[in-house]
Amino acid sequence: MFTLDGQVAIVTGGAKGIGKGIAEVLGAAGANVVIADINEAAGRETAEALGAEFEALDVTSKTRCQAVVDAVVARHGRLDILCSNTGIFPQAALDTMSESDWEGMMAVNLRGAFFMVQASLATMRKQRYGRIVLTSSITGPVTGFPGWAHYGASKAGQLGFMRSAALEVARDGITINAVMPGNILTEGLQAQGDDYLRQMAESIPTRTLGEPSDIGHAACFLASPEARFITGQTLIVDGGQILPESFDALG
Ligand code: NAP
Repeated sequence: MFTLDGQVAIVTGGAKGIGKGIAEVLGAAGANVVIADINEAAGRETAEALGAEFEALDVTSKTRCQAVVDAVVARHGRLDILCSNTGIFPQAALDTMSESDWEGMMAVNLRGAFFMVQASLATMRKQRYGRIVLTSSITGPVTGFPGWAHYGASKAGQLGFMRSAALEVARDGITINAVMPGNILTEGLQAQGDDYLRQMAESIPTRTLGEPSDIGHAACFLASPEARFITGQTLIVDGGQILPESFDALG
């Protein structure tokens, strides 16, 4: 179907979970994938398993974001695809949420996406080609969950950022879109505990959690040359979780 032969892609947060799923699918489509992650051990292991490259990256550092992009461009001469996927989701109740809970969430999920997109633009503009795919979430833009007010704000914020950014680069051959995962079985999600996982599976019409490759395939479509006329858009991948209007409608 789509081929990414000869293309160069950076996947942030690609050591595990959804990012790993995206890296795997992009690699299978022919892209040279660079996994950029704060978890060096898992990142190197995943890169080796997938035949990808690895760069150590903390997306809260603007300098490191630029350095990773520069290193990739120095090695490959181009950067076609940025999948800005890094995200954290520690819970904090509103009553006791601290300033550092809030700032920490925004620094990784929202500011980190901004840093990576900004760092990639000069190269993509020069080559007059770029595909940027953000990993947002259904939580925030569409749904809510107690304990995730700050997370939801960061994920909705990504979409606000995307829409104006997409306009600024539209004439440079660059698109910016977002995938919005529902509940995808990753290590991060497993850390929410068995009760959470069971509750979520029961609230999804398919009665199954998603797999990282489900997001990988959606991201691959938005990252393909064929998606050139799609920008500033979102693609929900959630097994229908947001659809039921009532418990009965869930069936
Ligand atoms: P995950 O399993 O926790 O994996 C995230 C990866 O990002 C880990 O390797 C993590 O390293 C790394 N990371 C954390 N902070 C970082 C930083 N500052 N700089 C660079 N890398 C960092 O997460 P996931 O479940 O795959 O989620 C990936 C993305 O999908 C997130 O944006 C999340 O919000 C979004 N999402 C997930 C779901 C879901 O159901 N899983 C649903 C909706 C949206 P460590 O291992 O060291 O923490």
